[in-house]
Amino acid sequence: MRLSRYFIPTLREDPAEAEVISHKLLLRAGMIRRVASGIYTFLPLGLRVLRKVENIVREEMNRAGALEVLLPLVQPGELWQETGRWDKFGKELLRFKDRKEHDFCLGPTHEEVITDLVRGEVRSYRQLPLILYQIATKFRDEIRPRFGLMRGREFIMKDAYSFDADEKGLDKSYWLMYEAYERTFKRCGLKFRAVLADTGAIGGSESHEFMVLADTGEDVIATCPACGYAANLEMAEAKREFSYPDEPEKPLEKVATPEAKRVEEVTAFLGVPPEKLVKTLIYVVDGQPHAVLIRGDHELNEIKLRKALGAEELEMADPETVEKLTGAPVGFAGPVRISGVKIIADKAIWGLKNFIVGANEADAHYVNVNYPRDFEIEAFFDLRNVTEGDLCPKCGKPLELVRGIEVGHVFKLGTKYSEAMGATFLDAEGKERPFVMGCYGIGVSRTMAAAIEQNHDENGIIWPISIAPFQVILLTLNPKSTTLMEFSEKLYKELEAQGLEVLWDERDERPGVKFKDADLIGIPYQLVIGKTFEKEGKLEIKERATGEKKLLSEEEALNFLKEKVKTTSGE
Ligand SMILES: [Zn+2]
Repeated sequence: MRLSRYFIPTLREDPAEAEVISHKLLLRAGMIRRVASGIYTFLPLGLRVLRKVENIVREEMNRAGALEVLLPLVQPGELWQETGRWDKFGKELLRFKDRKEHDFCLGPTHEEVITDLVRGEVRSYRQLPLILYQIATKFRDEIRPRFGLMRGREFIMKDAYSFDADEKGLDKSYWLMYEAYERTFKRCGLKFRAVLADTGAIGGSESHEFMVLADTGEDVIATCPACGYAANLEMAEAKREFSYPDEPEKPLEKVATPEAKRVEEVTAFLGVPPEKLVKTLIYVVDGQPHAVLIRGDHELNEIKLRKALGAEELEMADPETVEKLTGAPVGFAGPVRISGVKIIADKAIWGLKNFIVGANEADAHYVNVNYPRDFEIEAFFDLRNVTEGDLCPKCGKPLELVRGIEVGHVFKLGTKYSEAMGATFLDAEGKERPFVMGCYGIGVSRTMAAAIEQNHDENGIIWPISIAPFQVILLTLNPKSTTLMEFSEKLYKELEAQGLEVLWDERDERPGVKFKDADLIGIPYQLVIGKTFEKEGKLEIKERATGEKKLLSEEEALNFLKEKVKTTSGE
């Protein structure tokens, strides 16, 4: 491809609308453009990357025996009414009526449509297992779409659904998909981890999330370098023996803490470390007020809390409720002399002596508080996020925390959808049974953004070669020189003939502009034809990722590039 004929509207400045690095660089490199909030057009260069990710995903799905279908984006409301999700799904489900006043929605996911297809066509256990997948556009009407392709409203996903006769079959399909995901992200050239994930309230039995590791990731993952255990925060067990000094219990005392509400403010005012303070968080759990106690230096995990209490609905109490229950404004709640709330605590509170809590009174805290002397606790649970130094639940070595971006998810659904929609088959005994299902997603457009979050520097994107829009960019530094242009054209044709994907920058631009653009769009190898070629007949190859430069003859350069593409493009 000749750059002068291509369409890459690069930007010199960081666009104001972009908050995260992938969003900035996708806009600056001329790969996407915003059409509306959370809705983007893919430009030619961006589309090439998207297609590469898609193709890897497709090849690995096919290799695993999954069959590709294409389901509609527009779905009838009746199907969603069958599973109850028409009412339960929030406003993320974009609902509308057609001209005949029939309910429709834009599909954020396709369990209903696929279950409807299979219940009509698959009758016998002999037709199982069946794994169907699609790569298609989805829509979620996010309240606050942001971060470009990371959290758009319209996005491209691969979603697969497995249908099996029993749990054993589901287990097999699940791990088949798990392995396909491992191969997929490896082939995309990404550093990733598969982590244990919560199956939520909908009764799934097993789930893993695939996380692309990046310091800018929104999710925190607990990993064990010793044994490879990895889990997201709601699944990682906070396991550590805190051996608190066995100090004598001092008399309870109320102290004034004017204007000090937050942990840092109170502990700074009283001159104690944050682990000496116990936070009291007021939650409304299925209509019942609860006081949740957690150490000042720890963070509550709401999903752990929800699971511990078996709660359907759970939310932090609003300021009025807090004031009504505790008699004090937010920031001064405490477990001592409080009534009408259930008190539960994180396990790390156990054994803590002479600590500090809110006094249920504005600008006041209790010090030298002791359990069980001063108040009651209904139950202790693991409610906090793990921290560095917590121990691996598998091998007991210290856990490490890393950041990641979720790009894939495998999930055992069981019979939730097949039962709700009456999707059954006849087993070997002729008995009717619901399909046992699994669902498996990969955010295709999100993977593209995650690849940038993981692989970039101050000059731009650094694409892994397997998903790069082109493998080589040929830079002719002086297009006015006939010698250089003639040689470049010959080389360009030769590279293409060898099966390499080449973008040829033959624009009449200054070398500085060409180098800047090449770095920004992130093509893995830059092949420079300039002064060195004029003088010595040598080409310069720069590797975008390392900045390493080599001077090579034409033949050496060709062999070098062919080898690089071969060894890194997977199977
Ligand atoms: Zn371990």
